[in-house]
Amino acid sequence: MARKQNVIIIGAGLFGSIAAARCRLLGHNVTVVADQRPAMASLASGCVIAPSWLSSLSAPDIATAMGVLSAMYKVHDITFTTNVLGRPFKAQRVDLKSVLVQPDVIGKVISASAGVVKLEDGRTLRGKTLVSTGYWAEELVSEMPKVRGLWGASVSFKTSGQTPKLNVYAPYRQAVMFQSEKNRAWMGDGSALVTKTWDKESIQRMSATVERGRAMLSDPRATAITTAGVRPYVEGYKRGYFQQIDSSTWVSTGGAKNGTVLAALQAAYFTEALR
Ligand SMILES: Cc1cc2nc3c(=O)[nH]c(=O)nc-3n(C[C@H](O)[C@H](O)[C@H](O)COP(=O)(O)OP(=O)(O)OC[C@H]3O[C@@H](n4cnc5c(N)ncnc54)[C@H](O)[C@@H]3O)c2cc1C
Repeated sequence: MARKQNVIIIGAGLFGSIAAARCRLLGHNVTVVADQRPAMASLASGCVIAPSWLSSLSAPDIATAMGVLSAMYKVHDITFTTNVLGRPFKAQRVDLKSVLVQPDVIGKVISASAGVVKLEDGRTLRGKTLVSTGYWAEELVSEMPKVRGLWGASVSFKTSGQTPKLNVYAPYRQAVMFQSEKNRAWMGDGSALVTKTWDKESIQRMSATVERGRAMLSDPRATAITTAGVRPYVEGYKRGYFQQIDSSTWVSTGGAKNGTVLAALQAAYFTEALR
């Protein structure tokens, strides 16, 4: 059992939330601080765990990450019917709402170093610190590789009884849909765009995605809510980027399209580092 520590987690996306939950499970005293900026990636996530996304991880890393997830959340098996593969596609997922934690402190952090976290409004927090601020990690940690942000969006349709579907609609392009809540189906098509392209093409691209979803639902008038977010990519770090910065500060990001599993893996690294 790890020694009980005061822990500050900056960011309340998948990375911050899973790390916070695991730290709490292990008895640490945790404060989550976040400013909940609109483009945070996690609000758009389907929390799907696709077998192909695990290929960059070793068997022990997969076991660690899945162990962390299943100790704290319900991991659902999900079987998609497909329009081309000729056989069902099997994956797993967790419920986003069961994972995301509410920040204990809402505010923008301007610096985090040597166990001292300073907020824009003048508040100061102290403790072992995890910077899990997604695409924006570099703003607080200058000594790290560049974080590239790729925009994506998912669509939530008001509907019930939707069976999981995976539709290939162009070479290497596929849309997935499943019932995420009682009256909601989540749909993602993997779009990933750099910011300047996102500005120009996003509206056109998203209306095509919404129409594709309505076709999958066979409901041309289904009400849709689109959520956009910036996925964090750290070049050369397919397992995500986890690094100790100083005696009391760690950084954890780089979830890319595989945020659920990588957040769980890095939560395990962080709690191990607190020992
Ligand atoms: C459309 C879409 C679909 C996706 N689907 C899946 C999927 O099905 N399965 C999967 O595994 N992954 C999926 N992903 C990827 C996954 O969502 C990301 O990898 C993951 O959400 C990244 O989480 P994060 O916590 O690092 O960052 P974020 O979710 O961006 O969270 C960053 C947090 O840090 C806070 N923050 C940032 N800077 C500061 C600051 N200075 N002070 C205070 N707070 C700050 C933000 O407010 C936020 O709370 C998807 C992504 C998108 C966009």
